[in-house]
Parts: sequence; C-alpha cells; structure tokens
Amino acid sequence: MTVQIIQDFIPSGRRNRPGYKLTPKYITIHDTANTQAGADARAHAQYLKGSTAASLPVSWHYTVDDKVIYQHLPLNENGWHASDGANGPGNRQSIGIEICENRDGNRAAAEANAAWLTAKLLKDYDLGLDRVKQHYDWSGKNCPRVLRGRKGGWKNFLAAVEANLKTEAEITRPIGIYVDGKATAETGYLINNSTYVRAAYLIGLIGGSVTGHGDHIKIMLPAKTDPAEIAKLKAEINGLKAANAALEAKIENARIALS
Ligand SMILES: [Zn+2]
Repeated sequence: MTVQIIQDFIPSGRRNRPGYKLTPKYITIHDTANTQAGADARAHAQYLKGSTAASLPVSWHYTVDDKVIYQHLPLNENGWHASDGANGPGNRQSIGIEICENRDGNRAAAEANAAWLTAKLLKDYDLGLDRVKQHYDWSGKNCPRVLRGRKGGWKNFLAAVEANLKTEAEITRPIGIYVDGKATAETGYLINNSTYVRAAYLIGLIGGSVTGHGDHIKIMLPAKTDPAEIAKLKAEINGLKAANAALEAKIENARIALS
C-alpha cells in the first residue's frame, strides 16, 4: 500500500518550528484527542500553521487520517510533541506522528495508514521496531489514548507496522502447481496471501489461449462443445469402426484365399 503524503510545512521562524537539527532515532506515536467532525490531517496542518499554534511550543511531523498524511516539519528538524523537555530524546530524537480521531473519519483506516507510515520511516532510517514509542514512554501522558485504551491496541498496532516492514521477497514465495494430482513444471506465486499463476498456463489447461501483455491481455476461451455435436461425432466414430471391422474381415478372407 501507499498513502499520499502532502508536505505543508509550518513557516520558519515560528515558535512551533524550533529548527533544532534532528537525527531520527525513534518514532513517537500520538492520538490527536480531537474527536470533532472535520478534525482530520488537513485541519491539523491548518492549525499548526495558524496564529494560535505559532506562539506555542507545539508541533509534530505528521498527522495521519483515514485518507491522507500531512507532513508539517522536515525530518531533519525537531518538533515539540513528547513533553520531555527541551533536550528530551522524545522531542529531540524522535519523529512525531499524530493519528486522527475525528468522528467522521474511519479510525481503523487512520491506524492502518499510520502503521504504513511508521514502517516506511523505520525502513528509511534503518531503525528496528523497538524504536517505535508511545508519547507515554517519554512523559507518562496517556497518549496515544485510543491505542492505549483498547485491549491489545498497541500490540496490534506494532504488529501492523511489522507486517508493513516485511519486504516483497518475504511475502512472495513460489508454490508448486499440481494438475489432477500430478506436479507440473509450472510455478505459481503466493503474493500477499493470493495465488498467482500465469494466465496463459491456466487458460491453456482448458484449451483456450492468451495473447498480448503489458497494459492488458486477451483471453480466448475454448469453443463451447454442444452435447448433440458430441453424440453425432460418437455415432460417426462407431460407424467408421464398423466399416473398418468389415474391411479387415474382407482383407483376411482375401489373404486366406491367396494362401
Ligand atoms: Zn501525544
């Protein structure tokens, strides 16, 4: 999956864009604690750029909703989101991600998007899953409150991050193809729990054909067989067999007469 990331940075010089150099060592997860309808990622981007937030030590790097991600700060600059002080590792060594709680959004989708983003950042900065922290870990605040408040919420979020971390090679593996119980030379692939087999191979098995590649392929299904046509052909074959038997008997008689 890929989620769109819109860069919409807080203007330089504001109190909530401190600009201390950040070398990301951790990812800190938050919930917005804002359940208002419309309190999505874009609304938070507007808030952080607005005059109220400008004079407050309040900022983070990303807000994630059910559809899109807004980025508010470059990743080489710190934000103030971890409540662990001006020099705390949360504020100075972590990337802050807020997950939306707007009641008109799909929370499960927002969490899935946040898990994708977290995995992407871990990969980009070559960090392990143990570097994903809760706001709570830095300061004891009950945040991310939704994930913390739901039984297994945090554990499942980390599992979703881990699933996103798996490389294509790990989730794609070759599988054997058996036809009528016999192994074939054909190889199928298991990709994200779905089985893929060459269309040309599969269609060929039932007598059709496949042409084209690239943007699309064309499949020709085998001609439908009419039962009446089959009966007619069978009668014809039986007739030919009878004629053949008669001919063989004639040849045999001729052979005897000549001997
Ligand atoms: Zn928080």
